[in-house]
Amino acid sequence: MKKIQMVDLQSQYQKIKTEVDASIMNVIESAAFINGPEVKQFQEDLEKYLDVKHVIPCGNGTDALQIALMALGLEPGDEVVTADFTFAATVEVIDLLKLKSVLVDVNLDTFTVDTEKLKAAITPKTKAIIPVHLFGQCANMDEVMAIAKEHNLYVVEDTAQAIGAEYKGKKAGTIGDIGCTSFFPSKNLGCYGDGGAIFTNNDELAHRLRGIVNHGMYKRYYHDEVGVNSRLDSMQAAVLRHKLPHLDGYNAARLAAATYYSEAFAEIDELVTPVISSDSTHVFHQYTLRVLNGKRDALQAFLTEKEIPAMIYYPVPLRKQKAYDSGDYVDADFPNTDTLVAEVMSLPMHTELDEEQLVYITSAVKEFFGK
Ligand SMILES: *Cc1c(COP(=O)(O)O)cnc(C)c1O
Repeated sequence: MKKIQMVDLQSQYQKIKTEVDASIMNVIESAAFINGPEVKQFQEDLEKYLDVKHVIPCGNGTDALQIALMALGLEPGDEVVTADFTFAATVEVIDLLKLKSVLVDVNLDTFTVDTEKLKAAITPKTKAIIPVHLFGQCANMDEVMAIAKEHNLYVVEDTAQAIGAEYKGKKAGTIGDIGCTSFFPSKNLGCYGDGGAIFTNNDELAHRLRGIVNHGMYKRYYHDEVGVNSRLDSMQAAVLRHKLPHLDGYNAARLAAATYYSEAFAEIDELVTPVISSDSTHVFHQYTLRVLNGKRDALQAFLTEKEIPAMIYYPVPLRKQKAYDSGDYVDADFPNTDTLVAEVMSLPMHTELDEEQLVYITSAVKEFFGK
């Protein structure tokens, strides 16, 4: 049996090696390393795939979020509401820009923001909401958009884990004002280094975003505001151009593995398998279980013993991280996040899991529970 990894990028590469190698060599030979034709072509391909007016490629997913917030023209102290249970980058950029991050609880079943809690967190200083489409499934965007409309707030979607997912037929990241994604190698659409992109249907925001990614420059060597330097390089764009046509197939392979897992675990009362909402497709960036009755760490150790990696995404709520501690949260407002950090466990999930590996992994989990 092939060694089981959380993510198997080597096997995926072998299947597309010829075309990818050729296009990387082509970039090297052309020496168009920065803003070469591959970048423009990938941008257009992604606009078509997402059915969105503007894609602005950038250096990584964290930059994408930061640049999105910069483009909204917020003032220091303005509040941005997001989920307590997500990858740190989402809240890091809020604090970095001297905005005030306001964290709220998530739903126990979908791991995405609890929109009742979101509503309750809105104050006159709130300016934006960042829903995170965690683990590959969209947050409740109808509710998020309704709250945003009522209070006149911007919505920046964190689509780093959900590229290709659809919410009521619309691609994740194209529903709010701005969508942000990451092409980190292990993401559903990953390049061979760092990469990211920002999406919007709003022409003015697109103009602003394009200026900010390029040193706040709207006309060559005229700098109208403080921007950043954040670029997707041509080699990464060349890789992504070849991988984009495979994305739906990759996401289908993830869904098939997830379905296999969930069917195998259906009889285990002490496992809660991931819920697929009726409004969103699920692209399973992670396959995340809840392990009940305090057995999570013992199960993880049992699997490690059998050379099956399993990870805890995420072990600490963001409100409890030293870096972002703003001090005035009450644990009673976060029952679900606090339950999840103690119970979640993610199993190997990637596009290349084969039947033999799936049988081995599910048998080991069943063995742990005496099934
Ligand atoms: C990966 C990720 C990011 C950041 O992307 P990078 O490209 O690593 O900077 C942001 N938000 C979420 C939810 C992520 O999973």
